Amino acid sequence: MAAMSRRLQQQGRRLGVVPTMGALHEGHLSLIRRAASQNDVVIVTIFVNPLQFGPREDFARYPRPLSRDLRLAQAAGADIVFAPSAAAIYPAGFQTSVEVGALSQGWEGRARPGHFRGVATVVTLLVHLTQPTNVYVGQKDYQQALIITRLLHDLRVPCRVRVRPTVREPDGLAMSSRNVFLTPRQRRQALILSRSLRAARAAIRAGERRASRLLAAMRRRIRSEPDVRLDGAAIVDAATLEPQQVLRGRVALLVAARVGRTRLIDNLLVDVS
Ligand code: AMP
Repeated sequence: MAAMSRRLQQQGRRLGVVPTMGALHEGHLSLIRRAASQNDVVIVTIFVNPLQFGPREDFARYPRPLSRDLRLAQAAGADIVFAPSAAAIYPAGFQTSVEVGALSQGWEGRARPGHFRGVATVVTLLVHLTQPTNVYVGQKDYQQALIITRLLHDLRVPCRVRVRPTVREPDGLAMSSRNVFLTPRQRRQALILSRSLRAARAAIRAGERRASRLLAAMRRRIRSEPDVRLDGAAIVDAATLEPQQVLRGRVALLVAARVGRTRLIDNLLVDVS
């Protein structure tokens, strides 16, 4: 992979890289299509990164439909799919990790200790191997998108991070590889995540500026679904992820919840005028 991307770089080709864990859905495919429209060569990486899963998380059962992924990636415009084994990425003796500071500490970082260290480490490796001109990530994983942007900027990696909007099912559920784990009943109840975010956004647009009020309403809504266990709801500055009391500027509304055994996250960005 490294030799191939170096050669492409030397030929002056623009390389668009889309890092994924596979089980591709329309969210990933929108990133691939965008990459195809802005680059000469599109590389999709598929790697279920063991370092970013906690010991009680779903690494073993995470879906890995590789031949379907290859078909979908190619149809969306991928030229190269890089799907290394864990042993190729982390050979015996591997002992380096990359950590981004404050941005990694709150929210998902607190709920999933070590998660963002795993993400930052593998993204650093993947960009070294693929030499991107542009890297495409989804707003769906908002904190991760900020961390990757910070990381590549801090390490002077000469590429641009393009953060693309969250792709949703027609009823509003954010697309996720983990949605396949939901039973039909859980799938219906999971809608409360996007609904509670939209309700909060509507309240902000109607003039509410107190985070405590907005969060109380979000929590109440989410708790109304019996199979949904709220893991966290927050309203933060969209650039720093610092919690806000009285909303101003650009804010991110974040939620995380467990629906049955499946952990889902969602967010919305709102410009508070
Ligand atoms: P994953 O395979 O879940 O690690 O995601 C790979 C990339 O796709 C990440 O940059 C995600 O933020 C992005 N992604 C995942 N779901 C969506 C979605 N529903 N809409 C847009 N991007 C997404």
